[in-house]
Amino acid sequence: MRPWEEAIRCVTPYVPGEQPKGNDLVKLNTNENPYPPSPAVLACLREMEGGILRKYPDPASAELVKALAERYGLSEDRIFVGVGSDDVLALSFLTFFNSHRPVLFPDITYSFYKVWAELFGVPYETPALDEDLRIRPEDYRRENGGVIFPNPNAPTGLYMPLDQVEEITAANQDSVVIVDEAYVDFAGPSAAELLDKYENLLVVQTFSKSRSLAGLRVGFAMGSPRLIKALNDVKYSFNSYTMNLPAQLLGAASVRDEAYFRECVERIKETRERAKERLRGLGFSFPDSQANFLFVTHPRVQAGELFEALKGEHIYVRYFNAPRLDKYLRITIGTDEEMEKLFDFLERYLGK
Ligand code: PMP
Repeated sequence: MRPWEEAIRCVTPYVPGEQPKGNDLVKLNTNENPYPPSPAVLACLREMEGGILRKYPDPASAELVKALAERYGLSEDRIFVGVGSDDVLALSFLTFFNSHRPVLFPDITYSFYKVWAELFGVPYETPALDEDLRIRPEDYRRENGGVIFPNPNAPTGLYMPLDQVEEITAANQDSVVIVDEAYVDFAGPSAAELLDKYENLLVVQTFSKSRSLAGLRVGFAMGSPRLIKALNDVKYSFNSYTMNLPAQLLGAASVRDEAYFRECVERIKETRERAKERLRGLGFSFPDSQANFLFVTHPRVQAGELFEALKGEHIYVRYFNAPRLDKYLRITIGTDEEMEKLFDFLERYLGK
């Protein structure tokens, strides 16, 4: 080891899903939306002139914040935007989880939480999901330096009813409770409904899934003005110009096209419900996901082997080679045609 290496911050990084190249493949591995973004976004992109890249972008992303404030019925001082929800969540860890008490999140959840806790050097504890892979709200009644969980949870897809989200938030009014709603548009109501009651609640969402804009990198948080100010103070102390101007304008165009958003989300939900029936018929079992993916297991099939076999057919799904997860595959809901290709292969593979 070189002397300077002793002072390097060492972390085990988060490993994102593969981004395979090529057109002739079925990509169901990173929970992207199979449909294009709103035509309003594409029109805005075509009209954009290169000149907007010459100047620094608006550090407050005012146009996007305004569009979100109108859409969610909140004042602008209750909205924070970032470069994907990963950026918003990382900054939230840095801002709100800053004590010697452990941050709490489920043992099976978005694996980035552990990486941020380690990166920022905050202690954490991971209460286990129950045998049905559900979060037990009573596990979040112990002393902590913050709470975070996705709703729906990932990779199970299970949605927690709002009365339980409220139970966790109400029991933890001395810490910040973050609800990561990356997939909520495919599920039930958002915890944003609880924001007027709880000043310690931060609700984080993304444009990557329901708005088909994973490549644009836009995410946002909704919370009390005190939480949002704290986030902005940290952001401006780290990098003022995080979100580029095209992303701000295209993001705003997306938010303003409510009809297209609803249509796309409904289509994916319908495909998801049909996929559940087909997979059940093939002998798979899975938690009743309310997200845009299914977390499936089969009694006769080794998940790792099926993952490789699918890949051989250019069908990409996600496999987590980790305890408690390695019997499952996570399959993103694609278009009906993509799902048909998957089912065709599974029928052949299982000899049905
Ligand atoms: N939260 C959860 C639960 C996710 O699965 C993801 C997607 N990997 C994210 C947050 C981050 O998504 P993005 O940065 O694209 O908004």
